[in-house]
Amino acid sequence: MTTTTTPQILDGNAIAAAIQTEVTKDVQQLHLQGIRPGLTVVLVGNHPASEVYVRNKVKTSAALGIKSESITPPASVTTEEMLALIATLNAREDIDGILIQLPLPAHVDAKRLLEAVSPEKDVDGFHPVNVGRLQSGQPSLIPCTPAGIIQMLKRSGILISGQHAVVVGRSDIVGKPMAMLLLHENATVTICHSKTKDLAGFCRSADILVAAIGKAGIITPAMVRPGAVLVDVGMNRITSQEDFDRFFSGNSRREATFREKGSVLMGDIDPHAFALASYYTPVPGGVGPLTIAMLMANTVRAARLRRGLPV
Ligand code: NDP
Repeated sequence: MTTTTTPQILDGNAIAAAIQTEVTKDVQQLHLQGIRPGLTVVLVGNHPASEVYVRNKVKTSAALGIKSESITPPASVTTEEMLALIATLNAREDIDGILIQLPLPAHVDAKRLLEAVSPEKDVDGFHPVNVGRLQSGQPSLIPCTPAGIIQMLKRSGILISGQHAVVVGRSDIVGKPMAMLLLHENATVTICHSKTKDLAGFCRSADILVAAIGKAGIITPAMVRPGAVLVDVGMNRITSQEDFDRFFSGNSRREATFREKGSVLMGDIDPHAFALASYYTPVPGGVGPLTIAMLMANTVRAARLRRGLPV
């Protein structure tokens, strides 16, 4: 277990920038071979938060030399129309990555759509073929958020092998692939969820604690072992003065944001717990930036895998 006396911040922006620099070099190499990696993001309807995410993805792609486009079917689009669109994208030679931005409207069959994306172009790593490849340790396209977290831990010199990693949350997008990746890195992994008895006890036994729940501050200082590595995936917007005071009272920078915007973004870990950690990811500026960096890396990986080039 790596322990330090002062908690170290795991700076997601800095690590994401390093990954993006590497991706840019990779893209330039591919350009020299006449290959221009391409990413298509499909955004259904008007979802303000998703619009921001998609804009960022397209902008970052362009900055790295990846050809990118967004396709924006109306909210009334049917599952059949979406399947036809995905079939067209699967067949397009100039596209290496297809990302269907979630959430989708309730009337659209998200599962069918995600399964319709060609596994070779599935840069989100959600297709059952890629889930299976991840499980069996074959080269695959791995979900961006957990892949980014592994990059962050490794690049920060944090020991994973032999450590007890506790992942709270078992979604297909974060929790399950996170647990699998940690297992592949030889951690001893426990997965907790809403039915777990004694969540606090499991969390307290974690050397590496990954919170991917979606509930502000649910991991309290009493649930954290001193010296643990805290990875906070949660993205929660708090708007009440009571919540703000509970988590950020006395934090002048956050107070200014709260006054100005009427809300602040926070994770699943009560920020008071960070003082106990050896390392921790802040929210914002921790895990979030890595997700987009790994999407770029996955697009280049997909471009290489599809052409039989080494990855
Ligand atoms: P889901 O809602 O799909 O999954 C949440 C998980 O948390 C479920 O497995 C659920 O258990 C578990 N859970 C809920 N309540 C409790 C509880 N009281 N105790 C223990 N476990 C609980 O969310 P996601 O995995 O998609 O996302 C989790 C968070 O991460 C969200 O805040 C999301 O916004 C954020 N996120 C951030 C990203 C980033 O780039 N930073 C990327 C993706 C997500 P059960 O299965 O039993 O219901």
